[in-house]
Amino acid sequence: MKPMGPIPPDFIGESGALLIGGRPAEALVAETADTPLFVYDFAVVAARIARFRAAFPGIALHYAMKANPFAPLVARIAPLVDGIDIASAGEARIAIAAGMPAACLSFAGPGKRDEELEFALLHGATLNLESEGEAARALAIAARLGVTPRLAVRVNPDFELRGSGMRMGGGARPFGVDAARVPALVRRIVAAGAEFRGFHIFAGSQSLDAEAIIEAQAATVALAARLAEEAGARPPRLNLGGGFGIPYFAGDEALDVGRIGAALTGAARPEVLAETEYCLELGRWLVGECGVYLTRVVDRKESGGQVFLIVDGGLHHQLAASGNFGTVVRRNYPLAVAGRFGAEAEETVSVCGCLCTPLDLLGNQVALPRAEAGDLIAIFLAGAYGATASPAAFLGHPPAGEVVV
Ligand SMILES: *Cc1c(COP(=O)(O)O)cnc(C)c1O
Repeated sequence: MKPMGPIPPDFIGESGALLIGGRPAEALVAETADTPLFVYDFAVVAARIARFRAAFPGIALHYAMKANPFAPLVARIAPLVDGIDIASAGEARIAIAAGMPAACLSFAGPGKRDEELEFALLHGATLNLESEGEAARALAIAARLGVTPRLAVRVNPDFELRGSGMRMGGGARPFGVDAARVPALVRRIVAAGAEFRGFHIFAGSQSLDAEAIIEAQAATVALAARLAEEAGARPPRLNLGGGFGIPYFAGDEALDVGRIGAALTGAARPEVLAETEYCLELGRWLVGECGVYLTRVVDRKESGGQVFLIVDGGLHHQLAASGNFGTVVRRNYPLAVAGRFGAEAEETVSVCGCLCTPLDLLGNQVALPRAEAGDLIAIFLAGAYGATASPAAFLGHPPAGEVVV
């Protein structure tokens, strides 16, 4: 038997059935269409937003939409956050359709094409510039369109978020402009007549170490102050990135955001940042725990003395649960038999997806109550980097359904 990660405490059972948003999982499938199905419980997202507001008074909250761009979910989140961070014109369209004013969008990501820059500039979104070349293209396109570009500079910091699952800063990187070259770039865009919007400094992702995040945020503030002084420009906004992780695996513990908030809001501000709006952009921490991927057992079989539950879903919808999205060692996400939620484990089984590849393993030798063909398996932590971060076309199965409850 191999351990599973913790089921988010938001999910409870009633008469043995897993409830999502107060409804039994089986009823949600029956109403929606079919399995496989992603169900996003909006109350869980709202609770995370409320927790953020309590812990970070005076700090703006942006939703990093790439974590989950499902339009009905974005539409529920938009009124509760101060901005949305987008990484393509496609995401910009979803955010605008969700009711987020374009002026509250910030657009990061390397390789923005001219059409995307044009779309963002026309709508008045802030561009987080990833390079000097992108700055030159944005200025030229804005001049052609006759608009004042709103430009922030994404900084490749000279440090990284310690112990972060996915490093996006420090050393040679495709993201942002190396810190040493940032002041000159800021002076250039200000001289060209752009509206300077500030700095975007994102040091890493999926950290469960509050101390490391506090350290990275302090370093981010210090770096932003130094760059602002050198550039001779006060940044209206400092986007400190995110990096807040969620517990996925056995032994993981939830992040103490109260401590991080106390450190960030309690620290004295450098004078040059006195008027600056601090903002955090969070994806995974806001939505990761709200999602449950429901998939039905198609076959129960034995081989070499082991039991295999073969389900109708797989890594084509939920790549991360198979351990093939940014993890080095494959470990088990939390799983449950939806119709026997909370029941004692009776056997050790492996839960395999329907794809014809040994990579499609969703639960490796996990202890579960007995499940037969026809039973629903719930895979938790499916709210971020699920449906849109998985190779949906691989092997030609239909896409998963998605629903917000
Ligand atoms: C991916 C990304 C995020 C969101 O990261 P999470 O770990 O999901 O919070 C935030 N900002 C930028 C620039 C990103 O690329």
